[in-house]
Amino acid sequence: MEELLSGIHQFHTQVFNREKDFYSKLVAGQSPSTLFIGCSDSRVDPTIITQSNLGELFVLRNAGNIVPSYGASNGGESATIEYAVSVLGVRDIVICGHSGCGALQALLHPEKLAKLPLVKSWLNHAEATRRVLDENYSEVKGEALLKAAIREHVLMQIENLQTHPCVAAKLQRGELTLHAWVYRMEKGDILAYSTEDGRFATLTGLDPKEAKKRKVANVRKVKR
Ligand SMILES: [Zn+2]
Repeated sequence: MEELLSGIHQFHTQVFNREKDFYSKLVAGQSPSTLFIGCSDSRVDPTIITQSNLGELFVLRNAGNIVPSYGASNGGESATIEYAVSVLGVRDIVICGHSGCGALQALLHPEKLAKLPLVKSWLNHAEATRRVLDENYSEVKGEALLKAAIREHVLMQIENLQTHPCVAAKLQRGELTLHAWVYRMEKGDILAYSTEDGRFATLTGLDPKEAKKRKVANVRKVKR
C-alpha cells in the first residue's frame, strides 16, 4: 500500500501539475474510440499494452475476460457494454485474452475451485468454451490445451457479445468493428484473429493499415 500512496502523491505533484491542460480537457467529458474488454490480471493493463492515453479506452475487466450472453447476467458487464455502445458510441470493441490466464486454467481444472463458489459460478458463463475444448481438443494436453483454450475463449466471447441487442444493431449498420486479441506476456505482443484467414497472427511489425484488416468480419447483412 505504501507504494500506492506515494504514487498518488507523485501523480498529483508531477504528472497532473505538469499536464494540467490535458487533464482539464478530460474534465469536460469523454469520447473513447474503443471498448476494451480484458482480464483483471494485474500483468495485463490495456492502456500500457496498447500505449493509449487517458480518455481513449473504455475498459471492462473481469476474471477471464468473459462477456456473458445477453440476459444471462444482469451484472455490470452488460450495462458497461450498453453504455459504451449506445451512449459513448465506440467504433471498435476489443476482447483481449492473455497467455497464462488463471481463469482459463481454472476452467480447465474445475476441481481446484471447490472453495471458490463465486469464481466457479462466474466461470459457468464460459461453459461454451469448455465444451468446444472437450469436443475438439480431446487429444491436446497441458500448455498446448491452455493456449487453445485462451484463443477459443476469446472467439466464444465475440459470439456472446453479438447477442447483445445494442451490439447487433450497430454491427448491422456497419458502425462497429469487433476484434479478438490475445496478449502474449512472454513476447509482449498481441495476436489478432482475422475471419479472412481464420487464424490468430501477431500485429507487431504490421503497417497500421494492414493491422486494421485483422478483425472479426461484421455479421452478414440481410438485404432489405
Ligand atoms: Zn486472465
